[in-house]
Amino acid sequence: MADTKVLLIIGRGRSGSTLLDNLLGELDGFFSAGELFNVFKRGLVMGHTCGCGRPVASCALWSRVMATALSTPEGVIAPAQVAEWQQQVAGAAADTRRLLKVRSTEGGSAALGPYVSVLGRIYAALAEETGERVIVDSSKRPPHAAYMHLVPGITPYFVQLVRDARAVAFSRARLKHTVDKDMRVEGSASNAIGWMRRNLHSEAVRRRYAPERSLLVRYEDFVAHPQRTLEEIVRVVGEEPGEFPFVGERTATLHPNHSVSGNPSRFETGSVSLRIDDEWLRAQRVKDKLTTTALTWPLLLRYRYSLWPAPGRVAEEAF
Ligand SMILES: [Zn+2]
Repeated sequence: MADTKVLLIIGRGRSGSTLLDNLLGELDGFFSAGELFNVFKRGLVMGHTCGCGRPVASCALWSRVMATALSTPEGVIAPAQVAEWQQQVAGAAADTRRLLKVRSTEGGSAALGPYVSVLGRIYAALAEETGERVIVDSSKRPPHAAYMHLVPGITPYFVQLVRDARAVAFSRARLKHTVDKDMRVEGSASNAIGWMRRNLHSEAVRRRYAPERSLLVRYEDFVAHPQRTLEEIVRVVGEEPGEFPFVGERTATLHPNHSVSGNPSRFETGSVSLRIDDEWLRAQRVKDKLTTTALTWPLLLRYRYSLWPAPGRVAEEAF
């Protein structure tokens, strides 16, 4: 059987990864899994909600996938056990660069082997159950992407999604309510450091894996020209672009999905308008803007962001 293609979206939160994941899920041959990394602890142990509106544990699709993936000749593996393996392999202390260098499951922690084989069975079961060829996983975390070369039966592809650090800081300074929890509020210095780290590690992941299987996408370009971005991704993944879900240049039709975790926007269905959210240009506190720029400028320049953006410039730069 051919390998399952897994498309990992990596990068910092509040960069449009959920929207990109859901749009890709509308394409023929693609399944939008959401943040698969969170399926064990948040989805199955804590009872968070699937994109279809049911708790993940009682969603028909995920129940069938987990029944297959967690069954072994030795018995059924408890989701809490997988969450524990995951914590050892890719928890807060995980070192992305070290994981990238691990050559076999023997070379890491004892949890690495059983953990990646569960992941391999999940991706295979998702492909089997949905009949799709590409599983989109918007977990975002670089450590989760860094062991994909060890997951049996898959060919991984990587999209690093980057958004202007000042816009991310503005978004993360606001409380966002979700069905399951409140997304946390973060200060500008902490965000800037997190943004740098996340993007440097995402770059390391893209470099380590074959460059022809990875792509850098700027959120601003994606929102300005969503179909063009989708076409580029489809090309990298080696699929034939079928129908795109757009009814206008920036208006898409979204259907209910089975994404396991992510931004609350994953529950939005019907006609969805994409617009560049540049409120930060007018409403961000000067102190936050300066702090963020001072701490992130080397990467801002590398990703073609102006250090002194003015309102109205973002849309133009996207071209
Ligand atoms: Zn579901």
